[in-house]
Amino acid sequence: MTENKSQVIKNDPWFGSYASRAEGMRASEIRALFAVASRPEVVSLAGGMPYLDYLPFDELSELVAKMLREQGTKAWQYGSAQGDPHLRERILDIIRLEHITDAQADDVVITNGSQSGLDLITRIMCNPGDVIIAEDPNYVGALGVFRSFQTEVVNAHMDADGLIPQSFEEAIKTSIAQGKHVKFLYTVPNFHNPAGVTMSVERRPQILEIARKYHVLVVEDNPYGLLSFEDKTYPALRSYDADNVVYLSSFSKIIAPGMRVAWMIAPPGIRQKLVLGNESAILCPPNMSQMTISTYLDNFDWKQQIKEYRGMYKSRCDAMDDALHTYMPYCQWNKPRGGFYMWVKIPDGLDAKAMLPRAVTARVAYVSGTAFYDNGQGADHMRLSFCYPTEDEIREGIRRLSTVVDDELST
Ligand code: PMP
Repeated sequence: MTENKSQVIKNDPWFGSYASRAEGMRASEIRALFAVASRPEVVSLAGGMPYLDYLPFDELSELVAKMLREQGTKAWQYGSAQGDPHLRERILDIIRLEHITDAQADDVVITNGSQSGLDLITRIMCNPGDVIIAEDPNYVGALGVFRSFQTEVVNAHMDADGLIPQSFEEAIKTSIAQGKHVKFLYTVPNFHNPAGVTMSVERRPQILEIARKYHVLVVEDNPYGLLSFEDKTYPALRSYDADNVVYLSSFSKIIAPGMRVAWMIAPPGIRQKLVLGNESAILCPPNMSQMTISTYLDNFDWKQQIKEYRGMYKSRCDAMDDALHTYMPYCQWNKPRGGFYMWVKIPDGLDAKAMLPRAVTARVAYVSGTAFYDNGQGADHMRLSFCYPTEDEIREGIRRLSTVVDDELST
C-alpha cells in the first residue's frame, strides 16, 4: 500500500494517538483531483457528478418554499432514525421499476447518501480481519469504508457479463480454507463504477445461489440501475431474494447528490441494526432534505425526467465511444449499457497514474485505474466519465487525451 506523504501533517501533536482504524484512512485519488479537474480550462472526464440542468429549479424552489411555510416545524425538527415515512412509501414506487414488488415502507431505511449506507452495513457486519468479497476493480468509496473498518477485501473477477460466479465461489472457498469469516459480497451489478459492465440476467440467480450456499450476505449497491440506455431496467438482485440481500440505492444520480438522501432495503434483523446504527451515527437523516426530495417526487413526473436523463447520458456515452474509436483506437473498452463510466485499457507499457499530470497539462483529467484497487494494480486503465461534460467537450477531451497518449507511445 502506498502512503500519500503529502497527507501527513508536520509536527502533528496527536501523531501516535490515533486509533488504528484511522491509519488506513486516506484521501481518494478522485478527491485529490477535484480542484484541478474543476478548473474551467480543463475538460474533466474524472468525476461522477450527475448533470443537474434538467431539474426544474425555479418551480421546485417555489414548491419547497411553500412546503417550508406549511410544514416548517417538521422540516426544521429532528425526525425518525429510520427516515421519513412518506418518503419511504414513495421509494416503493421507484424500486418497483427494478422488479422489487414485495417490500414495505417498513423495510426501507433512509441514509445520508449510499456512502453512509455502506459505512452502516460494514459497521454492523464486520470485525477487523473479516473478509468482504468485492469486484475487481472496486468502487473507490466502498474501498475506503472497508479499509476504515480494517476488513480484508478479497477480489472476485468480472468479465463483460459482470461478476463471474466461479470466481466468486473460489474467493469464498479460499477465504474459508484460511479460517477467515466471509461476511458479505459487495457488488455493483448495474453499470459498474468503474468497470462500466452489467451483471447478466442469467448470472444473477447463480450468484445468489452461491451466496446462500455459504451463508454469505449480498450487499447490492445500485445507484445507477435506473440510468439504463436500453428500454429496460435489470431486475435487482433483491427482487430474487428478500432474505439474503441488502439493497442500496440513492437519489444522488437521479435527482441531486447535494441532498444526501439514499435508501437501503434489508431483512428485518439487519434493518433493525441499521436503524440503531443510524441513530448512533447521525441520530436521524435530515428532514429538510427528505422533504425536499418528496416535494419533487410528489409534484413532478420523475419517471419522465429519468427517461430524459437516460437519453442524454446515452448520447454522451455514444460521443465518448465514437471519439475513442477516432482518436485512440489502440485502447480497449466495453461500451456500457447505462450509467456514467468507461473503463479503458491503455496500451501495454503505459502508466495511467504517471501520465495524469501530463494529461492535466494538456487540459484533460481522468481517474487512474489505481484508485480502484488497494494493492497498486490498475495503472493499465483509466476511468473516463461521460456524465458531466457535453458531447463536444467529451470529444475535445478525448482528442486532448490522445495527444498525451500518442506522445507517451512515441517516446
Ligand atoms: N456507490 C457507488 C457505486 C457510487 O458510484 C456512489 C457515488 N459515486 C456511491 C455509492 C455513493 O453515492 P451517494 O451520493 O448516495 O453517497
